[in-house]
Amino acid sequence: MIIAIDGPAASGKGTLGKRLAQHLGYAHLDTGLLYRAVARVLLDQETALTDRDAAAHAARTLDVTHLDDARLRGAEMGEAASVISAYQPVRDALLAFQRQFSRQEPGAVLDGRDIGTVVCPDADVKLFVTATPEERARRRHLEILNRGETADYETILADIRRRDERDMNRSTAPLRPAEDALTLDTTQLNAEAAFRAALDLVEAKRR
Ligand code: C5P
Repeated sequence: MIIAIDGPAASGKGTLGKRLAQHLGYAHLDTGLLYRAVARVLLDQETALTDRDAAAHAARTLDVTHLDDARLRGAEMGEAASVISAYQPVRDALLAFQRQFSRQEPGAVLDGRDIGTVVCPDADVKLFVTATPEERARRRHLEILNRGETADYETILADIRRRDERDMNRSTAPLRPAEDALTLDTTQLNAEAAFRAALDLVEAKRR
């Protein structure tokens, strides 16, 4: 069983993916971390993000065993990931690992931008999780404040809008729902309701 979850930045797709995987006993891959890890290599080497060859090389030689670094989750890495993820050779280099990951028994949950459209077009369940940019910025802001850190709501909203724009308008694997995806708009839906709706869909497929 393959569950593909796509959606824009801070839509709650990661939380949903993690929860579904835990509940079902499936493996979970947050594919955004792969792009963030490629960006980390370039930033650590002080290589410009516009260097496509260096980005492709970093993707081809990526060590996928160190994806639990807290630094990967920061805003700087998200922004850098959205730049290098627009390069086709970077995406090509990360494809085989994602596909191989998806073929695990009894199942796998992958979340990202192009799982239902490119990585796993034959996924059993496809979800597109979204919410308004304002609501996503509100949640991200709250999450940062709850960690005891400071953040500016307007800056977060501007970051989210810029990332949406880049992810949706790139020529390679743009962010969009697969034709057979169920869209879950979580603007008015809490995490529990989103989880229940997604689980209903999975259970219906498993019957
Ligand atoms: O999901 P997350 O915010 O961690 O992703 C960081 C960036 O990586 C996204 O803005 C997007 O540009 C890119 N990405 C992608 N395809 C994926 C996952 C992430 O292009 N499957």
